[in-house]
Amino acid sequence: MTDRQTQIKLTNTKTRHKTNTKTRHKDVFVPIDPDNVRMYVCGPTVYDRAHIGNARPVIVFDVLYRLLRHVYGADHVTYVRNFTDVDDKINAKAAETGRSIREITDETMQWYLDDMRAVGALDPDKMPRATEYIGAMISMIEGLVESGHAYAAEGHVLFAVESYKDYGKLSGRSIDDMIAGARVEVAPYKRNPMDFVLWKPSSEDQPGWDSPWGYGRPGWHIECSAMSYELLGETFDIHGGGNDLMFPHHENEIAQSCCAHEGAGFANYWLHNEMLQVEGKKMSKSLGNFFTVRDLLDGHDGQAPVPGEVIRFVFLSTHYRKPMDWTAEKAEQARKKLAKWRRLLSEVGEVTVNENHVDPFFLEALSNDLNTASALKVLDGLGQELSNALLSKRQRAVGDLNYPESSRSSEVVAAELKSSAQILGLLLDDLGGWETKSSDQYAPLLDELSKKISVERIVAMQTKDFAPVDALKTALLDAGVEVRMSKTGVELEAGPNFDASKLEGLL
Ligand code: AMP
Ligand code: ZN
Repeated sequence: MTDRQTQIKLTNTKTRHKTNTKTRHKDVFVPIDPDNVRMYVCGPTVYDRAHIGNARPVIVFDVLYRLLRHVYGADHVTYVRNFTDVDDKINAKAAETGRSIREITDETMQWYLDDMRAVGALDPDKMPRATEYIGAMISMIEGLVESGHAYAAEGHVLFAVESYKDYGKLSGRSIDDMIAGARVEVAPYKRNPMDFVLWKPSSEDQPGWDSPWGYGRPGWHIECSAMSYELLGETFDIHGGGNDLMFPHHENEIAQSCCAHEGAGFANYWLHNEMLQVEGKKMSKSLGNFFTVRDLLDGHDGQAPVPGEVIRFVFLSTHYRKPMDWTAEKAEQARKKLAKWRRLLSEVGEVTVNENHVDPFFLEALSNDLNTASALKVLDGLGQELSNALLSKRQRAVGDLNYPESSRSSEVVAAELKSSAQILGLLLDDLGGWETKSSDQYAPLLDELSKKISVERIVAMQTKDFAPVDALKTALLDAGVEVRMSKTGVELEAGPNFDASKLEGLL
């Protein structure tokens, strides 16, 4: 346990609508049990690679997870994120590819974990897959039928929305508004068009399980109610997801859970992240601005790879409740900033990382409804301070004792920078290494090489032997360096495929 004094404030969707949709109502977070803070986040449907929009809730709730672990202690937080491995999109993929559902879902789950780890996300404590909780879903549905909140009709079981008076409260809608605004599926077996499916029949070639209502499979919403109950209990602290899930998915989860466990509150705090766009436009395959996390990590369509840490930084520079725009320009800025911080830290050498070194202003910013953008500004200030402290140290080491000594040592500032950044999942040792391929720290070396090639060129003009110049130029191009020769001199600049390891031995 670290510092339980820290007060975390969160915009709670649940109470925001109770007061006023327009006010930014924040609640002080008070866990039910500080020894076991419990959070559930809706996970992916696993049939394809995650696109970069899918990474937003993962990164947002990973930061909240890290903050909760910092405040309550790593062993006092339980984070559950499910895998939806039963869904018609998965069935369609199996039919299209001729592969088994299990093969597709296993492969996609592994991709998802690899990609999310690459952007610095910790694995949640529990990652249940829906198909392992079918029994729990059937029991919950049976209870809902018994208590009159659900009814069976034509092989289906439907939840009767009129049986739950608070239906629509989270998203601030009435049942009539919902019918008018939503594309509800009208079906003859529904008593009310808003009633939603808890169980539906499967044909022989569809995945299915035996149930009191015949061979079938669950509707989407029931899985989160069943899994959160099994793993976190009937009332837990935080429930998260993208705001596209607020209606109908989260409304339905609340209705099912609160009716199945009369008197329980389900989740006390609801957090919703806003959506991500690309270069100002909604991401879509037809606009050609759709890409997966893996596309970015590996490089796609002639673009250079974007390191996972850089992707993460870009996400954190926008508050989670604001729409976020992914742009190549932001990625470039983020890359430069992180490379600089990493370079400064490596100049310090061994840096102490522990929770006592977290900057209080950083923690205050992050505890204020996860204001990651402000928290990054505090890190930026520490980066500046570190740069100044190192400069002062360097100057004084070469005998310039008139140079003012920094008020805090580079070791102290570096410890604060790194310890704080790690709560955002940045400057972690395992996410590093990419910056040694980055151009910034090689600027002096490229300078030397440009001098060398200039001298060789002057010599070549006299000897008429251009082979050494050509060989050096070829080696530079091979290392991803752009070479511009003019009458006034030679300019070298690291290009997008710059690889510093190939410069070894050229000087
Ligand atoms: P899906 O695969 O569409 O069911 O989405 C899985 C998760 O990604 C959900 O939590 C969604 O809220 C989230 N998500 C999907 N698209 C976006 C987007 N463009 N921006 C942010 N989150 C998204
Ligand atoms: Zn869910």
